Amino acid sequence: MRLEDAIARITFSLESVHVESAAARIEEKQAANQAKQSGAALILASDAEVWRAGVHESAHAVAAVRCDLHLEHAGVRCDASGWCCYYEGGESIDQTISRVVADLAGPCAELLLVGADDARCGQLAHSSDLLLARLNIDRCRARAPTWQLPTRLFAQLACSIVATNIDSIGRLAHVLILYGQLSRDAVAALVRQ
Ligand SMILES: [Zn+2]
Repeated sequence: MRLEDAIARITFSLESVHVESAAARIEEKQAANQAKQSGAALILASDAEVWRAGVHESAHAVAAVRCDLHLEHAGVRCDASGWCCYYEGGESIDQTISRVVADLAGPCAELLLVGADDARCGQLAHSSDLLLARLNIDRCRARAPTWQLPTRLFAQLACSIVATNIDSIGRLAHVLILYGQLSRDAVAALVRQ
């Protein structure tokens, strides 16, 4: 997908989030992810689906490192689900903006580097990445109302960090799929090569 089209789609998805139900839906998705981490049975996905997951999680990880967030670890499962754990180093608004950029980088990478049909775009629009990003964008706006932060700005930042780190994302995706899980140090070493 072209950069401008990806920015437009992410912006539309963010503005379409049903904010009132977002926190509850994020909790549901986190519980499902935790069940998988605890050993729930997984359905094997195709190589293409696992690659998509590898690119998605690698984009989160690369953005987290580039934005100076605290990355813990990242992984991809055989059912094409995955995770990337990172968190802000404080309550400053720039850390929250960085968090939004890292959260959006996964969906942006799918649109820009893999391609997503309408069904996948629908899934991404309702993903915890988009929901959480929208809630944090609203937090930024509440804390800095005079900045008048446009939604599109966050989509532009996330798509830009993906577009300028294509090599790092691809390199990390290959290794992440090979090993299944990588530590913070391993991710940082691959990103900074
Ligand atoms: Zn994600």
